[in-house]
This record gives sequence, C-alpha cells and structure tokens, in this order.
Amino acid sequence: MENFYKLSAFEIREKILKGEIKSEDVVKDIFERIEKIDNKIGSFVNLRKEKALAEAKIVDEKIKNGEKVGALAGVPVAIKDNMVSEGDITTACSKILSNYTGVYDATAVKKLKEADAIIIGVTNMDEFAMGSTTKTSYHKETKNPWDLEKVPGGSSGGAAASIAAQEAFISLGSDTGGSIRQPASFCGVVGLKPTYGRVSRYGLMAFASSLDQIGPIAKNVRDIALCLNVISGSDDYDATVSSREVPDYTEFLGKDIKGMKFGVPKEYFIDGINENVRKVIDEALDKFRELGAEIVEISLPHTKYAVPTYYVIAPAEASSNLARFDGVRYGYRSENIKDVNDLYVNSRSEGFGDEVKRRIMIGTYVLSAGFYDAYFKKAQKVRELIKEDFDRAFEQVDMIFTPVSPNTAFKLDDKKSPIELYLEDIFTISANLAGIPGISIPAGLADNMPVGIQLLGKPFGEGELIQAGDAFEKIRGEWKLPNLD
Ligand code: GLN
Repeated sequence: MENFYKLSAFEIREKILKGEIKSEDVVKDIFERIEKIDNKIGSFVNLRKEKALAEAKIVDEKIKNGEKVGALAGVPVAIKDNMVSEGDITTACSKILSNYTGVYDATAVKKLKEADAIIIGVTNMDEFAMGSTTKTSYHKETKNPWDLEKVPGGSSGGAAASIAAQEAFISLGSDTGGSIRQPASFCGVVGLKPTYGRVSRYGLMAFASSLDQIGPIAKNVRDIALCLNVISGSDDYDATVSSREVPDYTEFLGKDIKGMKFGVPKEYFIDGINENVRKVIDEALDKFRELGAEIVEISLPHTKYAVPTYYVIAPAEASSNLARFDGVRYGYRSENIKDVNDLYVNSRSEGFGDEVKRRIMIGTYVLSAGFYDAYFKKAQKVRELIKEDFDRAFEQVDMIFTPVSPNTAFKLDDKKSPIELYLEDIFTISANLAGIPGISIPAGLADNMPVGIQLLGKPFGEGELIQAGDAFEKIRGEWKLPNLD
C-alpha cells in the first residue's frame, strides 16, 4: 500500500474527492502507522479504529454515489482528550475522569464529524491541560518524535506529536496559555490558537474559561486553514462565541505580503533566549524582509507582568471550574468514605494529580475574601493593561512577530520546578490574556531540534496570519518531519 500518511490533509482530501483513493484505505494506512510507531511515541490515549473504519466506508459510499460531502471528507483527524465525543472515553488525562464516557459531541467535534472528517482517536495531554510537558498526564508520557528523550511540549503534547510522527493529518488542541503553539514549536509542526470566541468551547473540559480556545495543529498552514473553516463560527451552546462571519480561510493562501507591517516587540527579545534559537528567529525575520514585509520595533510594556497575571487568573478560574468534580455527579469516587466530607475530600485528593491540586490551591487562595482585591482583582486590571498594549501596537502594525519559546524541547527527565516551567510560557501567555490569535510555524533547527516562530494577529485576524504563515513556508522551503521507521 502507498504510504498515505506522508501526505498533507489537503492532498489526502483531494485524492479522496477525486475518487483516486478510498478513505477506508487511508484510515487503514494511518492505523498501520500508529500500530507501528505509537508504542515509541505515545501520542494517543484512546483509539477509535472500528468506528473510524466504519465511518470511512460511509464517506466512500457517499462519494461513490455522487452525494455531497463535507470539507474534510474522509480525512483522519485526532482530538485532544479534553473534548467530549459521544460514546468515546474522554478523561482530560485525569484519574478523576478515567471512567468517563462522553454523552454528547463537543461543538468542534460535531463540526468535524459534519465535515465528514474521520476521528481516529484521542491524544495525550497534561492533566486538565495544566502544564507544558504532557508529563502531568495520568495515563503516560509522550515522547518528542524528534528526540525520544525529550518532551513534546504541552499541554497538547500528544496532539503535536501525532502530527510530527505522521499518525494523523490534523489534530485539535486547546490553548489556554500556549498549549497549542508551544508543543507545535517543540515538535516542528504548525499550530494555531484562534481569537477568543472564534471557535466554540462547548464540550471542551474547562480549564480557564476566559482564556481557553480550541485550535488545529497540522503539517502546514494550508491544512490549518482547511480545518479552521470547519471548526469556526457561532454556536447556540456557547455564549462567548462570536457570530461574526467565518471567511474562507483558504482564500488567504498564496497571497503576497508586500508592505505588510510586522511589529517586533523589544520586550520579547530578552537575554534568556537560547542563542541557537535566537539565530533561527533572526533568520526567519530576514525572510519576512525578503518577502517585502516592513519590520518595525514596537513596545508591549506590560509583558513582564503576563506570567504572574496568568498564574493568578488561570488557577482562579480553574479552581472554580474543577469544583464540579466532587465524586458525586460523575467521575472517580473514593472507596475510602465514612461521611460526606470524606466523599468530597478523598475523591478529589485521590483523583487529582499534584499540578492540578497546586492550581486549585492557588486559585482558591487568590479568590478568597481576604486576598481577592490584592490578587484576583489586581490581575484583572493588569490583564486589561496587557490587552491595551496590543490594541496600541495594532494601531501601528498588521501583526506581531515573536519567538514561541525561549528554548527548544527539554529532556523528559529534566527536573524543572513549577516556577521554571511557568516562566517558559512568557511568549505565549499574553495572546490568551488579550484574546488575540497566534500561530506557531516551524522556522528551522537549533541543536537538531525544531524552533517555531510566532505571529500574533489582530482580533479575528486569523486570515492574515494564514496569509503570512503560508508565504513564510514557501520561502522557508520544504520541512522534513523526522523519520521514525
Ligand atoms: N503551560 C501553560 C499552563 O501550564 C498553558 C497551558 C495551556 O495552554 N493549556 O497553564
């Protein structure tokens, strides 16, 4: 059989639509790939092989009969373990949900299904999306396909690894403070965090509701555009979703970017950036110059407050969102119960991992009566200042260019403290606080590991990010994923 897994989502879709290949064969090929390599990588925590094959046959039948099919007809895609899918186990990679089966489809998942995509499985992540290594998953570790001793990043580490290891064509991730962009950068693939409100969060297990967004991870920008077309748009089940019209994002492909103005924030080019990462970033900026973009220095003066602000707001919202896991309604219940207090305390103590507990404690602390004004309220104010920094910048420039992470992927056994890990989020977190879109695109290698660049856009400026990202990919040239055979 031909190795379909090496193609892009766009190419697979074209071939399926033309009737050159059958979705069923593509699904078989992708499972062959997964069965061969996923014991090394660990991208998936659950697979839907039988269901996927049956669904692929239905799509093939529709195409054979000349019926209308959706925009991702027959294309194998993966979803992160925090998006519910009816009848499938969804655990947020937590013990507390280890026995939970989805009773409905998250809107993004429903839209994929309606677009005739084939959901092949569910990918590994940090527990409740809290982390940047995928190591806090209750189930297992995921390895970086570029170096099996390194982390894939997180929290959507399984999603990014599944694309880098060519085990799926598109993988949905979620991003609260960088969880799509950072693993995409660490794994040498493309990841887009849409504007807050572009994609419905209905059925996404909430971490920090004012920051969370679902977005696609794929091999290239074109596939990102294809998927964004499908998952974006209004939803009666999520009041925070914008009813703004969804453009055809593929129309932004192949356009030049001459005269586009890129802002480079001086606060993002700090000493802490690894020297070889810096080189790749600088070369990428030169490529944008070659493409005719105008590069200007800008200032986002409140950048240094982004990490502390996020680590007040995100845990505060998390502590509230996670209150629903109490051993009563669903999920894990402790067996060690004498009274109702034990039911709550022991179910939660046994069901949550350390990082989740740490965030619940920080969150309840900053929301408590005595500290609310000093921490939570203050953080909300600083959040507004961070947002205003971007508003001001976007009066001058069309988009903002930054690194994704100060370093490439680190070793799995690297014992970083929680604070050290939180500080690594410095370049991704502000976009969530401001609600703006960001894309991470592989730019080159530093010490044989991929380095991503980040483009941040105006609210609902995903089209321009896709336009600039696609132009960049063309000038950068072919991007080879690691050979895992
Ligand atoms: N690394 C960040 C955190 O630990 C971001 C996580 C995310 O975006 N879900 O909270």
